[in-house]
Formats: sequence, C-alpha cells, structure tokens
Amino acid sequence: MHKKLFIPGPVDVRPEILEAMGTPMIGHRTKDASALGESVCKKLQKVFFTENPILLSTTSGSGLMEGSIRSLTTKRAVVFSVGAFGNRWAKMAKSNNVPVDKVEAEWGQPTLPEIVDEYLSTGKYDVFTVTHNETSTGIMNPVEEIAEIRKKYPDVLWLVDAVSSAAGAKIEVDKLGVDVCITSTQKALGLPPGLSVCTISEKALAQGRTVENRGLYLDLIAIYDYMQKKPYQYPSTPSLSHYYALDKQLDYILYVEGLENRFARHLEMAKITRAWGNEHFEQFAAKGYESNTLTTIKNTKGISVADLNKRIGELGYMISNGYGDLKEKTFRIAHMADRTVDVLKELLDVLDKEIVKM
Ligand SMILES: *Cc1c(COP(=O)(O)O)cnc(C)c1O
Repeated sequence: MHKKLFIPGPVDVRPEILEAMGTPMIGHRTKDASALGESVCKKLQKVFFTENPILLSTTSGSGLMEGSIRSLTTKRAVVFSVGAFGNRWAKMAKSNNVPVDKVEAEWGQPTLPEIVDEYLSTGKYDVFTVTHNETSTGIMNPVEEIAEIRKKYPDVLWLVDAVSSAAGAKIEVDKLGVDVCITSTQKALGLPPGLSVCTISEKALAQGRTVENRGLYLDLIAIYDYMQKKPYQYPSTPSLSHYYALDKQLDYILYVEGLENRFARHLEMAKITRAWGNEHFEQFAAKGYESNTLTTIKNTKGISVADLNKRIGELGYMISNGYGDLKEKTFRIAHMADRTVDVLKELLDVLDKEIVKM
C-alpha cells in the first residue's frame, strides 16, 4: 500500500508529474535542451519573485548549499543556525576550508535581526546565511525583518536556505535583497528528489569570481558561465527527466493553482495542524515563528512516536519522527507541495483515533 506522505520530503507527487518524468530523452547539447532549460528558469524566476538568473543543479539541495558557501566566500562566512540544517551549512563550510563562524539559536527559537546586526557590524564577514524554514524545529525565520537590518550591510552576501519552503511560502528574493536563494525539488515544489535550484545575484557572481578555489562540480560561477555559453545548459549531464517534470509542475503552480492560492493553502493547512497540535500537545517552535510548510510538535504526552507511525502506516499514512536529538521528543507533520486540506484532515482524524489508544 502506498502511504500518504506527511514527511518533509520526499512528498507525494501528482501522477501527471510522475508521468512527465518518463518523457523520452533528448540530447543534452541540443536546441531542445536549451529551450527546456530556458522555460524552467523563466518560470522559476516567478516563483522566487526575481529578475536574477536561476541556476539548476543535478544534486539535491545540499549540493547548492555546499557550492554556494564554498564558491562565494572570500573572507569569512557567518552561519545563523536555528537547527540541524543550519548546523549542516556551517559543517559544509568547515569541510571545504571556508572560514566560518556559527551562531546557533536555542532550538525552537528564530534568528532575530538584532543578532544578525550584531555579527555583521563587526565587519568580519562577506557572506551570511539564514535558514528560511528550519525543517528540524519547524521555525520559519523573519526574513522581512532581517532584510531591513541587512540594508546597513549591502556588501555582505546573503544566502538563504529555502529548501523546505520555496513554492509553499512567499519569498520575494529581489525585494528582500537575497543574493542566493536555494531550494530542492522534493519539498514544496512537489517533485521527486534529485534536482536543486537557486537564484544568484550580480553581486554574488562578481564576488564568486574573486574566489580562487571554488571546487569544480558545485562551482556556481562555472554553472552560470556554462549557461551563458550554451544557453540554459549544464556543464555535465543534467537530470532532464526532472526538467520535464518541473516545467510541467511550474505551469500548474503558476497558471492552474496560482502562487497566491498555493501560499494561502499552505497557510490554511499550517493553521489547522497547529490547532490540532495545541489541542493534544504543544508547539515546539516559538510563537509567531511557526512554519507554514511543516509543524513540529512537542511530544508532551510521552507517546511512542515510532509506534504511532507504525499504526498509522498500516492505515496508509506516514509522518516524521523528530530530527536527530529531537527524536521521540518531538514529531513532525509536513503539509506542503500539493497536499490538500481534505487529506490533511483525514490524517488528523486518524491520529486522533490512534493517540487515544496509546
Ligand atoms: C531537506 C532540507 C535540506 C537538504 O536538502 P536535500 O535536498 O535533502 O539535500 C536543507 N535544508 C532544509 C531546511 C531542508 O529541509
């Protein structure tokens, strides 16, 4: 039996998108490949509200996270972490010999603009990173407020991990002044895993060119330059299957559902899930900073999350245990991509019935 996925990636993919993954192959150095790449990039610019170029990478989102911090940092990066994925970004920098400082908030708390101001005002950094939506703790960071403070430091590049939020929550890249905004296909975009995308600003491109060792496969400047030389193509062989599926899914997101409706649906699902969580348990995320794409719930009843997941698995549903150290202390319900309010309510009804038995 296929389990309906309420985990923060991979997500359930609509049948017509799975079908598009099976489109017959074309040569990756043909005009058709360029046209496909161009179509995908132009539509992605709308999702990110940006005029900046889009880069596509045949890696999951981690590839562009590692590539961006390595190929754009000349001096020193500061990683503002609010959980597991922020910590991973700092680890990526370290393992690539990129000088980095990690500023970690207490888990469940957001990155506040004051702390960004405090660190950037030292003048030590030329890159800072923020996790828009931290998938371990269920925090959605206040990027609009951070954008205000950042105006004082226009020369410091701002990299944003929007892996679990882009296309499910509004991120206006140009208005916010984000230099690199990264996402993967298997989260709110609603595709299978295997491709990641980012926006990249002029400033980021210029600074990256001054970095001596950018690596090879994940060198963002090389990916960009190749796309100029061979329009919208990729330095190595890309997952064309994902390009076909993404092109089709973006038509659906932009022109069938509509971005604003999509964001509103995610918010509605978040509100329903938070209310359910508050009825039985508590939120893990600080009030006012709860994610719109997944809810992390504190296991205040001390139930066995593993057992709960096994029980609902037999009924055709799957949620996520807590991440890392938060395992069994929390659990997570993702409500992203093309999941509908009705199916979410179906899950919550099932959870209601199973929890009383525990
Ligand atoms: C899933 C996730 C990642 C990692 O992305 P992959 O596509 O699995 O490499 C990074 N950051 C956040 C916030 C995520 O949710």
